[in-house]
Amino acid sequence: MKRILITGAAGFLGSHLCDRFIKEGYQVVGMDNLITGDLKNIEHLFPHPHFEFYHHDVSRFIHVPGKLDYILHFASPASPIDYLKIPIQTLKVGSLGIHNCLGLAREKKARVLIASTSEVYGDPTVHPQQETYWGNVNPVGPRGVYDEAKRFQEAMTMAYHTFHGLETRIVRIFNTYGPRMRLNDGRVLPAFIGQALRGEDLTVFGDGSQTRSFCYVDDLVEGIYRLLHSDYAGPVNIGNPDEITIRDFAEEIIKLTGTTQKVIYKDLPQDDPKQRQPDITLARKLLGWEPKVHRSEGLKITYEYFKSLSTDELNKVEHKDFAKYNRV
Ligand code: UDP
Repeated sequence: MKRILITGAAGFLGSHLCDRFIKEGYQVVGMDNLITGDLKNIEHLFPHPHFEFYHHDVSRFIHVPGKLDYILHFASPASPIDYLKIPIQTLKVGSLGIHNCLGLAREKKARVLIASTSEVYGDPTVHPQQETYWGNVNPVGPRGVYDEAKRFQEAMTMAYHTFHGLETRIVRIFNTYGPRMRLNDGRVLPAFIGQALRGEDLTVFGDGSQTRSFCYVDDLVEGIYRLLHSDYAGPVNIGNPDEITIRDFAEEIIKLTGTTQKVIYKDLPQDDPKQRQPDITLARKLLGWEPKVHRSEGLKITYEYFKSLSTDELNKVEHKDFAKYNRV
């Protein structure tokens, strides 16, 4: 039986990856320091004989007894609100954390896949974004702590690959959504759905003409699963190229939820990328992968998830006003 370590296991993506690898018959070792992760996302796995969990911060030395065949490094804060609230931890997990993961992988002779991000492209001047584009990142802006940590993480991973011959994979993840997103992380989808469910107006930042391309989590997990088992060490975009403006996205959420609230406009956060769309030619060719779940279908499933949350959870929103965190 193959044994896999998943860091960030209690997070949105980490928990879905745990589910997938358990389903595929792996022994899964989950690890999380629970700063942004939530045990609720994986508590259903605790009784499973093939699941283990370590409450540990990967920015500190990682000790896992026994063999490991694979390591997925998914531990990191991952929303603009998080970067502003916990910038140092964001930098540490992308630098010290990846160093520890790569060291552990060498020790165990394991293959490592790291979660990188479309943020390495910054506010892109090339559209759609191909893996060959080097990006347009402000290192000292509010997103710099995340963007530069992820860029460093890619560099470190490539160095271990070329210098130590470690087997490595890099996925560049574009905006992804689905059940278990954190309601209060400030991301646009939980923000809009949460607002609709609480009977508040939907807050569009700027004039809403900025674009994003949203990928349903099951599609992303399938892409990552295929990439891990491929033999390609360079970065690969995984995302859904179906691009939409944030203003139109707000209208879709209004229709989906049937809310009678309206859209209100707030200041655009500093360095907010104007457009983002993955070029997935490489993933198509290399992995025979492309997204299957249409936004209308994925949004319905995600809405059902948010509707199932308790009123207490719905009201436990710390970040109603993103702007107050955007002081850099
Ligand atoms: N956004 C918005 N209203 C919100 C939260 C976000 O208009 O309540 C915008 C945000 O400014 C950005 C887009 O939605 O242009 C996506 O934001 P998110 O934080 O989800 O992800 P990222 O900017 O990292 O792609």
